[in-house]
Amino acid sequence: MSIPLAEQKKNSKAQSIASSRIKEERLRLIEQEVCSYGDTVHYTQNPKMFSRCQGSYLYDMAGKPYLDLQMWYSTVNLGYANPRINDAAKRQIDTLPQLACQYLHQEKIELAQMIAESVKKSFGLKGRVHFNVGGAQAVEDALKLVRKTTGRSRMFAFEGSYHGRTLGASSLTASYRYREAFGSFADRAEFIPYPYAFRSPYPHNLEAAEEYFIHQFERKFEHECTGAWDPKAKRSEFGAFFVEPVQGTGGYIVPPRGYFKRLAKICRDYGILFVDDEVQMGVFRTGKMWALEHFDVQPDILIFAKAITNGLNPLSGIWAREELISPAKFGPGSTHSTYSSNTIGTAAALEVMKVLSEKKYEPIINAKSARFMQRLKELQRKHHEMGHVDGLGLALRVEICEEDGITPNRDLANKIFTAGMEENLEIDGRPMGLVLNIVGYHKHVIAIAPSLEITDDEIDLACKLLDMAITRAKNL
Ligand code: PMP
Repeated sequence: MSIPLAEQKKNSKAQSIASSRIKEERLRLIEQEVCSYGDTVHYTQNPKMFSRCQGSYLYDMAGKPYLDLQMWYSTVNLGYANPRINDAAKRQIDTLPQLACQYLHQEKIELAQMIAESVKKSFGLKGRVHFNVGGAQAVEDALKLVRKTTGRSRMFAFEGSYHGRTLGASSLTASYRYREAFGSFADRAEFIPYPYAFRSPYPHNLEAAEEYFIHQFERKFEHECTGAWDPKAKRSEFGAFFVEPVQGTGGYIVPPRGYFKRLAKICRDYGILFVDDEVQMGVFRTGKMWALEHFDVQPDILIFAKAITNGLNPLSGIWAREELISPAKFGPGSTHSTYSSNTIGTAAALEVMKVLSEKKYEPIINAKSARFMQRLKELQRKHHEMGHVDGLGLALRVEICEEDGITPNRDLANKIFTAGMEENLEIDGRPMGLVLNIVGYHKHVIAIAPSLEITDDEIDLACKLLDMAITRAKNL
C-alpha cells in the first residue's frame, strides 16, 4: 500500500527535524568540552543554536523562525543577510580579500571619506577617521588619544555605562562585576549618575530631572574638595567624559533633551574632552546617523562599531577633530591591530554608508517608531507590569515591573525572555520564537532594537508575540 504524498512529506519533515536535533545535541556535547564560556554572555543554560538568518528572522536548527527584536545588540541594523552588503563583501573576497593595513586600498579611503563627511554634515566639524576591529578596541584608541592630548588618565563615565570588556574599556564600564576578578583598575572612571528620569525623584517631570542630574555633575567643580578640579591651577584631573547619548546596556535610557548640551558646556569650561560612544546607538538606531545629533552637541571624539558593517566583518573606529588626531599629533603606530582597516570590513562598511545615503531613513524610522510605540502603549494598558515604555527612533524600552508599575521585576523579565526563546508561541498554528534582549540596572528592561527595515506587519506581529510571551510568563 503506498503512503499518500502529504503523509510522505510530513514524515520526511519529521525525520529532518529529528536528525537536526541529534546533530544539535552532538554539537552541544563537543561545545561543553572545547569552548571557553569566558568569551560569551550565557543568558540561558542552553543557548539557542541557529543555522540561518534572513531579514528580521533567525532560524533554528529545525527551521523554526524567531522574530528578532534585538538584532545582535543593534549590529544588524539593515537586516540579516542584506543582499547589498553581502554582495559587497563577496566582491571584495573576489578581488582583494587580504591586505596588510600599512598599505592602502580604495574602500578604506572612501569609507573614511564618507564617515568624515557624515560627521561634518551632522556636527559641522572637520576631522579624521581611524580604524580598529571591535567596539572595545575603538574605545581603547579613544582613551589613548585622550591621554596623549590631555596628558590625563582619569575619565568620567556614567553609572550604568557599558564601553566594553578589554582592560581599558572595563575601567570605563560601570559594573564592578565585570572588574572584580581582574585585579586593580587604578584609573577606573568616576561614574556620574546617568540622567535616568524614570528612576529619579522626578519620574514624570523631565525638566526637573534634567536640572537634578546636571547639578550632580556641576557640583564636582564647585570647590577643590570634590576631587575633580584645582581652582588655583584651573586644571581638572579628568581628561574626558565618555558618553552614551542613549544609554544602551544600562537600559535604553533616553535622557532629557537639554541635558547633554549643558554637560558638554561644563566639560568645555573645565578642559574636559567630550567622547561620544556611538557603538550601540549610532548608524540610525535612534533615527539619526549619530544619536548625539538629537542633542545639539559637538563631540571631540566619536566612536563607531557594530552596525557600521551590518555585522558582517569586524570593523570599528574613531572619528576625532583634526586638531587632536592630525598626523603631527597622533602619528603612525599610536595604535594598531593587524586587522584594523581590513579589506572585507571596509568594503561592507562602505556599502552600509552608501545604502544609508541613498534612502531617507530618518522619516521612515520615525514612522516605524511611532507605530511601535503606539502598539507598546496599547499593550501597557493590558499589562500593568510594563512600567515604562519609551524610546528614540528604533531604540525602544519596556521596563518590566511588579503590578505597581514601578518596582523592578527581574524575574518576570527573565521569564518573558525565556518564553520568547523556549516556549512555542503560535501564530496561525505555526510555532515561532521571539528574540529579546534584557538590559538595565536591575536586568529588568526589555531593549527593543529591531531591523531598521522591519515592516509594519512585522511590528504588529512583534507586539502580538510580546503580548503572548508576557501573558505566558505571568502565568508561569
Ligand atoms: N560601547 C558601547 C556603547 C557598547 O554598547 C558596546 C557593546 N555592547 C561596546 C562599546 C563594546 O563593543 P564590542 O562588544 O564590539 O567590544
